[in-house]
Amino acid sequence: MDDRLFRNAMGTFATGVTVITTEAEGEVHGMTANAFMSVSLDPKLVVISIKENARILSKIQESKTFAVNILSDEQQEESMIFAGQIKEKRKVAFGRLSGQPVVPGALAQITCEVSAEHVEGDHTLFIGKVTDIHLEDGNPLLFYKGRYRSLAEEKEVVSK
Ligand code: FAD
Ligand code: NAD
Repeated sequence: MDDRLFRNAMGTFATGVTVITTEAEGEVHGMTANAFMSVSLDPKLVVISIKENARILSKIQESKTFAVNILSDEQQEESMIFAGQIKEKRKVAFGRLSGQPVVPGALAQITCEVSAEHVEGDHTLFIGKVTDIHLEDGNPLLFYKGRYRSLAEEKEVVSK
């Protein structure tokens, strides 16, 4: 099957945008990701999917921790920085939650310990046991059909 057909199909599934952060050997690394899902409530588990050639992969394997930062619609620039869509190096200031690096201003900062790792095709799935959460008000940054979007005003539901 053609890659473009697969990507076009997956692109019709509108998602939020996250930046995954981790710290290894004293250095913080971030990567933009939309392959994120809530897995279990008891215990509290999430999953992320990281491609085999991503630099963050070995860093998460080393630190055994990561944070999921769900971006607001004011953070498209952060998404572009951590997806390598802005070429020049930018200095990014990170915050801390339970000692782990997080992206300030994210709608949700979710710190995790890696509880399992599964290689599937050209990606590695990391199951994260949630250790802490911080929430902020705002609206989400969205990704749909390969483009960044934001929520339209809520339409009034007219009952018949
Ligand atoms: P690098 O290429 O090393 O890092 C990515 C960028 O972040 C670089 O430009 C780097 O300079 C910058 N950066 C990293 N750390 C810092 C720091 N401390 N300070 C300043 N800048 C820093 N890929 C997946 O594997 N899974 C996904 O779910 C996924 N979803 C995506 C969703 C969207 C909307 C987009 C746009 C991309 C997605 N990608 C995903 C692709 C992925 O974000 C890119 O391929 C990314 O460049 C790979 O990152 P890397 O770990 O190889 O790191
Ligand atoms: P796109 O049309 O490539 O992405 C549409 C959808 O296809 C994505 O939301 C994702 O669900 C899926 N997809 C894209 N690349 C994939 C991959 N390598 N593995 C698994 N699923 C993938 O949109 P775009 O604007 O061209 O994307 C920007 C860049 O970000 C591209 O380089 C793309 O490969 C990458 N990306 C990677 C993933 C991922 O690895 N899971 C997810 C989204 C975007």
